Amino acid sequence: MFRKKADYCLNCVTKPCVKVCPLRNDIPLFIKYSNEGDFLKAFNVLSETTILPAICGRICPFSRLCEGNCVRKLKGEPVQIGYIEAVIGDKAIKKNYPLFRKMNDFNGKSVAVVGAGPTGLSCASFLRKLGYSVTIYEKHNYVGGLISHGIPDFRLDKEICEKSFEKIINLGINIKYNAFLGKNIFLKDLRKKYDAVFLSLGANVSKIPSIKGKNLKNVYGANAFLESKVKLDLKGKNVIIIGGSDTAMDMARVAKRCGGNVLVIYRGSSKDMKALKSEVSLAKKEEISFMFRTNIKQIISNGNNYNAYLYNDSGYNFIYPCDYVFFAIGSKVDEKVNKMLGLKLDMNGYIKVDKKNMTSINGVFAGGDVINEKHTVAHALASGRKAAYNIDEYLKQFDNKSI
Ligand SMILES: Cc1cc2nc3c(=O)[nH]c(=O)nc-3n(C[C@H](O)[C@H](O)[C@H](O)COP(=O)(O)OP(=O)(O)OC[C@H]3O[C@@H](n4cnc5c(N)ncnc54)[C@H](O)[C@@H]3O)c2cc1C
Ligand code: SF4
Repeated sequence: MFRKKADYCLNCVTKPCVKVCPLRNDIPLFIKYSNEGDFLKAFNVLSETTILPAICGRICPFSRLCEGNCVRKLKGEPVQIGYIEAVIGDKAIKKNYPLFRKMNDFNGKSVAVVGAGPTGLSCASFLRKLGYSVTIYEKHNYVGGLISHGIPDFRLDKEICEKSFEKIINLGINIKYNAFLGKNIFLKDLRKKYDAVFLSLGANVSKIPSIKGKNLKNVYGANAFLESKVKLDLKGKNVIIIGGSDTAMDMARVAKRCGGNVLVIYRGSSKDMKALKSEVSLAKKEEISFMFRTNIKQIISNGNNYNAYLYNDSGYNFIYPCDYVFFAIGSKVDEKVNKMLGLKLDMNGYIKVDKKNMTSINGVFAGGDVINEKHTVAHALASGRKAAYNIDEYLKQFDNKSI
């Protein structure tokens, strides 16, 4: 069965799948080795570019990326690249393959990485491979960032994540948990202590429109709510989710599992939704309702219940009684933290970097969601890897000189 899937790859000359993969994984080559039954070789090919194949193989939006551009898709079904990548990642976990075939000896230089999401983990891993001593500072007492607290368990088996993270930590990376930049650790101290600092803080503060009722008790931002890991008992409660993104679908499906009667309200048509079609149809199968071309004007508390004032494209206003409202209309950076860092920011508060990931402070680098890279795990991993090579290039210029 597996061979059949892997054999299906044409190994075509143009390789459009590789061109659109944010990580530039050598897809035909890892498929070739796995087809020959050499999973170690296949994993080694993947490890040149990525540290989380078992995870990306499951949750990467491949229908828009590699599989969406597969030549086979022109005449039928694409090669199941995500599935094959996940099988190789799983084999590596089961057989305990080391993440990297070769690691440079320690070179005497050290780098601090702040934030243990995919961007930070990728940067730390590639720096470690290049010979740096790396310490990650993470505000939570676990690693993974949104992989751990954003993507729900029913979409991504958290045991696979734990085992994938174990491989990374086993590279010899130090981790300081409960270390919150701006609260109990500070940029100027890290800059003094380390040869370079990499910031990968993500952008996970929920956007909430400034409407009346936004501060009511049962009104939440989806990102912040998912990160808090609070489980609500929503049995029999009317829950509204505002938004049409993948995060909105995740939030809706989490609320459904907590027992809620869930309604997704989206300002555009069903075709305009940013969420993957597959995620929308899963939500529909789970009896989540949808209301399109509709938006929210205000929320009024009515004792224990709320009334959401809604309006649609035709100018029609109406009231929808509900108990909870979750906004999933995007996320932004933590402006308080970013401002306090004393770095140049763009007009939306994202950290400004040059082409080499360097911020406005010499030796301080940033990547991933906090610099507004595209918001997928694969993009985050690619951003962290690129930053690691840029930090290496920056630090190498000081070889034989004191920094
Ligand atoms: C609900 C949801 C579902 C998603 N689903 C998918 C999906 O299916 N597929 C996909 O490819 N992408 C998905 N994404 C997007 C993807 O998860 C992110 O783009 C990616 O995780 C960004 O990586 P990052 O490392 O830059 O940021 P994050 O993953 O946010 O990691 C940032 C890390 O920094 C830490 N941190 C933050 N501030 C501080 C501080 N001041 N001090 C110390 N540590 C700090 C955080 O705790 C966190 O560990 C999803 C996003 C969300 C919100
Ligand atoms: S990271 Fe995503 S786009 Fe790249 S090969 Fe894996 S599934 Fe495809």
